[in-house]
Amino acid sequence: MKEIEGIVIQSNRYREKDKMVSVLTADGVYSFLARGTMKLDSKNRPSVEILTQGRYLLSYTKDGLSLRQGETIFSLNKARQNFAAIRTLSFIEELTYKFVTKDIAHKIYDLLLKILQCIEDGNDCYTLSLIYLAKVIEANGYGLFVDGCVRCGSKENLVALSYIDGGFVCRNDYRESEDLPIGERKLKIIRYIFKVGQVDLLRVSFAKEECLELIRDLCSFFSEATSTRINSIKLL
Ligand SMILES: [Zn+2]
Repeated sequence: MKEIEGIVIQSNRYREKDKMVSVLTADGVYSFLARGTMKLDSKNRPSVEILTQGRYLLSYTKDGLSLRQGETIFSLNKARQNFAAIRTLSFIEELTYKFVTKDIAHKIYDLLLKILQCIEDGNDCYTLSLIYLAKVIEANGYGLFVDGCVRCGSKENLVALSYIDGGFVCRNDYRESEDLPIGERKLKIIRYIFKVGQVDLLRVSFAKEECLELIRDLCSFFSEATSTRINSIKLL
């Protein structure tokens, strides 16, 4: 027997009444069979809903891990009534199961839980999704250098972003053919989302359109860098 505490990041129907579930914990990802949880009266059913945090008692069987008992710790309820929140949750879900591997689970687990709680409490789901994206990109080793010019280190006259070199670029080092010019406002937002700590998640929120534009930019960079599609962005 094994007991884990974590967040459900995949929950798919398997056979008629069962589900295959993946749970992210602070030390990795566990997948198990959750028998009978497609049935409406299953007592374990709520605990294996997507993005629910729970405690799971698992047993080893010849086919792998199997759920004995699941207990919900935190679940999304109010957020599920809100259209914008639902869409951003699909995005967060996809980012997590595609990019949060065993090796970086410890960097993301607490943050993900906090972000889900903030969304459930009705805070701005676009800003929170943007921050989450930045942190997932960073945890995967593709973080951007936002403290100065990535080529010379200067903190003055930052005018562009280089995805190739991974950071801001100053006026002197700007290369028209490969760098992306960015204004002061966008620069500030990018710096903020890569720097912000977990305790300050709610300090600032940005306009929906600003968030979406940056989410699209960062996703196309990240998708290309990792050769992995992010499908749910189309729904945002
Ligand atoms: Zn420079």
